[in-house]
Amino acid sequence: MQRSPRILVVGSANADVILHVPRNPYNGESLLVRSRTEGLGGKGSNRAVALSRLGAKMEFSCKLGRDVQSDVLLSAYGHEKISSDLIFFDEQTGTGTAYVLVDGNGNNTILSYMGANDTFNRRDLDKLVTEMPRFGFLSLELEISLSAVEELLQASRKHGVHAIVDAGPARELPLDLFRDVLVLSPNEVEAAQLTGISITGMRDARLACIKLYESGCRNVVLKLGAQGALLYDGCDFVHFEACRAGEAVDTTAAGDCFMAALTFALSRGTDMHNSIRYANAAAAISVTRRGAIDALPFGEEVELLYS
Ligand code: ATP
Repeated sequence: MQRSPRILVVGSANADVILHVPRNPYNGESLLVRSRTEGLGGKGSNRAVALSRLGAKMEFSCKLGRDVQSDVLLSAYGHEKISSDLIFFDEQTGTGTAYVLVDGNGNNTILSYMGANDTFNRRDLDKLVTEMPRFGFLSLELEISLSAVEELLQASRKHGVHAIVDAGPARELPLDLFRDVLVLSPNEVEAAQLTGISITGMRDARLACIKLYESGCRNVVLKLGAQGALLYDGCDFVHFEACRAGEAVDTTAAGDCFMAALTFALSRGTDMHNSIRYANAAAAISVTRRGAIDALPFGEEVELLYS
């Protein structure tokens, strides 16, 4: 039987508040903010928007509060042609928010409030588990309750749905959570947190991949920033150099863009090696643009660089 190319994205949704400050405030200091912008954020939202722009058949599930921020997010999803059928609401907790302080040198400090992202409950999970067989691929990250991640991975195993997991943000958890997932993909910081191996070169990167593979996942794809990505499938290591689409000015959401493009390519039946090349191409475009959502490319742009 042919696998459905449909992708279920489950993940975080945040209202980002970006504050441009001359420098980070000292303890107890009150500092004037130069400018303030708001936007769509969260690793789940970023992947959902990226997948929609690439042209994927996808649905997005996240959990929002009942507040002004959720109205803004819902309207942005509508604009990005993302259905709200699987979006849940928590009556007590506010929509997740990331407060991003950008100093005069362009460095970011982020305060993250998980809010409703951490409130997936029995009813929400029952709904997602019931819907799971309609999908061929599950795209997940760790910015929601870990109990929800665990239950969704169990359901994907049961229904033969390919799970593709971004191992960010870095959290302490048992590696066997990732048993049977098709792709486990951390960045270097997350790989170090999960394995205890700090990655300073290709040798450490390989050792970390071997340790991550022991979780029982089928492929480890280690994101290496400007160095591209390293694949370990239990037999061979393959290093895919990053693409170049212009000058890199901002890597915000590059990892989310990479994950979305990798999942999209696999869902179209592309093999793993070419899917990673496609993901490198999409992420390379995103780093040439500032911001998160604003940086995410459309399918035609990626095809031009990839082909
Ligand atoms: P994020 O900044 O979203 O947290 P991440 O830390 O999860 O990203 P990275 O390893 O920084 O992930 O980057 C993800 C992918 O983006 C890389 O695997 C690569 O394909 C691409 N990328 C990152 N930096 C560059 C760069 N300077 N030039 C080209 N491609 C890049």
